[in-house]
Amino acid sequence: MHKRCHCGDIMKMKLRTVIYSGKVEIDNVPIYSCTACNRSEVFPEVKPDLTGLISQLGAEPDKQTFLFNECNEWANLLVEAKAGKGMMDQPAVERLIEKRINKLLDLYLLAQSLNDEAWIQDLKKRLEQLSRRTLRT
Ligand SMILES: [Zn+2]
Repeated sequence: MHKRCHCGDIMKMKLRTVIYSGKVEIDNVPIYSCTACNRSEVFPEVKPDLTGLISQLGAEPDKQTFLFNECNEWANLLVEAKAGKGMMDQPAVERLIEKRINKLLDLYLLAQSLNDEAWIQDLKKRLEQLSRRTLRT
């Protein structure tokens, strides 16, 4: 999982902790970073969820810690990929995505049959996060 940096070097994907407002720690945020020029950017697929989370915190947040992988499917998958093989290469991540989508769809059907509206909404959100994917650049 990498992309080319503006400086010509390769930016590698890492799970990092983002500190917001000096108080809020958001762990396991997928971020591309370049060791040559120290540039870093948030993985585009998780940006809407990260900005959403931050906007919910408001201007004066309390000291707290979030696990970003608990509210974002991408971060969750990357944490899994990292735990599994210690690396986040693209084929491994693609396989995990496919497995995860299948599992979520199974759960979605189950939630529907139980008429559990809150669960259905949660699963819908997770499926949308994963379908928002443009891995290949
Ligand atoms: Zn660079």
